[in-house]
Amino acid sequence: MLYTRFNMPLTALKSTYLVALKVLVLTLLLAFTGSLKAQVYSKEDSIFIRSIFNTALTKAECYDNLEHICKKIGHRLSGSDAAAKAVDYTYSVMQKANFDTVFKQDVMVPHWVRGNEKASVSYDGKKHTVKIKALGGSIATPKKGITADVIEVQGIEELAKLGKEKIQGKIVFFNRPMDPTNINTFVSYGTCVDQRWQGPSEAAKYGAVATIVRSMTMALDDYPHTGSMRYVDSFPKIPCGAISTLAANDISANIKAGKKVVFKMQLSCETLPDAPSHNVVGQLNSHKATGFKNIPQTYIICGGHLDSWDVGDGAHDDGAGCVQSIEALRLLKIVGYTPNSNLRAVMFMNEENGLKGGTKYAELADKNNEKHLFALESDEGGFTPVAFT
Ligand SMILES: [Zn+2]
Repeated sequence: MLYTRFNMPLTALKSTYLVALKVLVLTLLLAFTGSLKAQVYSKEDSIFIRSIFNTALTKAECYDNLEHICKKIGHRLSGSDAAAKAVDYTYSVMQKANFDTVFKQDVMVPHWVRGNEKASVSYDGKKHTVKIKALGGSIATPKKGITADVIEVQGIEELAKLGKEKIQGKIVFFNRPMDPTNINTFVSYGTCVDQRWQGPSEAAKYGAVATIVRSMTMALDDYPHTGSMRYVDSFPKIPCGAISTLAANDISANIKAGKKVVFKMQLSCETLPDAPSHNVVGQLNSHKATGFKNIPQTYIICGGHLDSWDVGDGAHDDGAGCVQSIEALRLLKIVGYTPNSNLRAVMFMNEENGLKGGTKYAELADKNNEKHLFALESDEGGFTPVAFT
């Protein structure tokens, strides 16, 4: 599971038709996983597959569902009212689509709220405003903020070399950019995100008072990207935020020019008590589910996560994954396909800052002795489906 954050607006996604393409791939995969082995495809199969395409191309509802989730409900971080609305909405969509079973799984989720955030950087005797986004789960700064000298590092390993002597009392600035030479940008993301995820506790180990991190994006712009981080209990918790790539370049250039660079940040974010929430599961029953009581049931699932970060629409991350999963089953229902295994579309809650929904699903699957043959999660954006990994 990657902790992702996409800033592409819904309109950009909608103009591509890629969600529709992904739905078709997903639908076909679900329909034939485990049902057609190494056998010759008949003419009937090709007519049936064509009927799935035709239905998708003439009766698609996924864009409307995505628009509702992103624009009528909006961002939906775990524990928020909007997250609860997304639960109710997807439940009702799957009921309306006449899935054989639709149910919720209770799960307690973290409830972090962003509050206000403000930052500035000073050099050459002047103060410049900096946009900052607290990292999800960060503690607040004192009300008057934290003001300290900035020390730039290219990664966690550099902290040990600098040691307590150089880091104590400072704001550590993680500034290793994403590698632009990887064709798969998720590789670049994956090799950079440790600065955000572990950075605060690693810096606290050496006495840092706060951390800022260069946003995880290739784009050079002035939009800071939030995302997850995790505190390690054995070190003090310090506030942490992301700054934009342009702000990161500016601060770095001034440090390299030998100037004294002082950063001030004020964050009022807060972790409230865990909140009740739900995964939402829609199911098309296997033909073995009726009339064959003692036949072991198998499951194939596809899914996305309902929650999203609180500073965007959550269209790519992961509204698209949710609506695709619902749509795949809806199409199969319309064309009258009865699967060999029970097929599920699962709307996982709390992928972004806790994974409580995914963990709960696994726990219940185990407890209920549900044999899962295959699970597919779509959470790398609504782009061209190029591979399953
Ligand atoms: Zn995601």
